[in-house]
Amino acid sequence: MKALALSKVTHLIQVIPDPNPDTILKLQCKINKFIWEGGRSKKTVVGIAQAELPPDKGGLAVPNISNFWKALKASWINRLFTAPEETTWKQVALSKLAVAMKLPHLTSNKLLLEGTQAILRGTKSLSNPFWNATLSLLPVLEARFYERNKKLVGERTWWDTDAFKVGANTLAKKKVPPSIARRFPYIRDFINPNTGALYSDPDLAVTLSKDSLSTWNRVAASITSYLTSNSMTWYDIDAPCLGPQHEGLSRIVIEHSRSKDFYKLLQPVQKGRNANERDWENSCLGKYSTDKWNKIYRNYSKLKVNYRVKYQEWRIIWKRQELNHCKSKYDQSGNSNINCTLCLEKTETEAHLYIDCPVTQNFYSRASNWWKLFLGGHPPLQLKGPRLFGLENCPPDDLENIFFRACRYTIFKSRYKGPLISLDLFKQLVRDELSVKYRGNKYRLLLERKEEVSAICWHSLAMEGQLL
Ligand SMILES: [Zn+2]
Repeated sequence: MKALALSKVTHLIQVIPDPNPDTILKLQCKINKFIWEGGRSKKTVVGIAQAELPPDKGGLAVPNISNFWKALKASWINRLFTAPEETTWKQVALSKLAVAMKLPHLTSNKLLLEGTQAILRGTKSLSNPFWNATLSLLPVLEARFYERNKKLVGERTWWDTDAFKVGANTLAKKKVPPSIARRFPYIRDFINPNTGALYSDPDLAVTLSKDSLSTWNRVAASITSYLTSNSMTWYDIDAPCLGPQHEGLSRIVIEHSRSKDFYKLLQPVQKGRNANERDWENSCLGKYSTDKWNKIYRNYSKLKVNYRVKYQEWRIIWKRQELNHCKSKYDQSGNSNINCTLCLEKTETEAHLYIDCPVTQNFYSRASNWWKLFLGGHPPLQLKGPRLFGLENCPPDDLENIFFRACRYTIFKSRYKGPLISLDLFKQLVRDELSVKYRGNKYRLLLERKEEVSAICWHSLAMEGQLL
């Protein structure tokens, strides 16, 4: 029954054509416009590459349509390799590929040891557009995988792949002398287990002919230059560990089963740190460690709150809120007022608004006094960082983090109603955050903590309509 149903789905996906690149581009534009405030935003908030990063890396996880589509197809690579050999649709797919690649009796295990360029050449003569599009993703999946997992290179085969060229070309498996192909199929096989380094010529001269030895040396040189360009040596290759060993493409195929996994793999590897870290460092905060930034992003990714608040939180992390100082960038006349809407004195930036502004200083103390009275605890107002990003060592729904987040959004929203910032919006935000935090029975787990108990009591009164 399952096999029957699956083959129906296979057929369905096989007949859906790949959208053409124009369509993908149009769709991507629509999504990006939607995300940047319906296309009304006067400036780009951050570049697309940054926005596509996952939230725990500082991004917004804006979907990349092209890779999303490819990932849907790529999940069938895992299905193809893991389905039992007798499955009809698998037999059909493999038999056609076998003809195209001139490999009789092709099984998925055999296919794992073929180079991705050889598979790519094979797919070109496949009449089935689905398997053609799906299997031709293998070279890029392989490249991305080893870009992320450099030390696993020992499991790779070295023929028919762009990574290890001999001269200007990839080395075809079919042209490799059998004595080498049998004994040295994987890169780890080039390492002499006694020394942990490459085999030397005298070691090999006993068993390899002169011609084979010269091929062997050219392949070894190609792998060495690959390692060097990735800042590695032969000693850096992970030793094969106990348990089932991966060979050729097996790890890529087995460890990525859902389209979500393939999507992650297809997205480019992040190079260096995010630009906002340097921007903040150059302004008022001084140097934050990468560990601290990672915690800030991780907290952001776990944050469960109203999307308007969440989006502004992200813009603060990126130092890219739409504040008055931006006006100088897109107003050519030079007449725009870039000063703080609350104190009217200094330039309105995130650092001014949330840390230095005398009007918001006053608001923080009022909010803090109210908090002490009704919820207890002492949010650490004297520190600069928490006012911008909260306390990165506490969970995002920690009471003090709720305090700072509600302060920030109240300040941001009250800019045109100042100079007095109303506590009412602040209280509503706190109530909404606590509603998420204590939802269902979750509050029961927190009843042993004194400060949570006063917050739970206040929250239940607030839900009855009394914003004390
Ligand atoms: Zn101000």
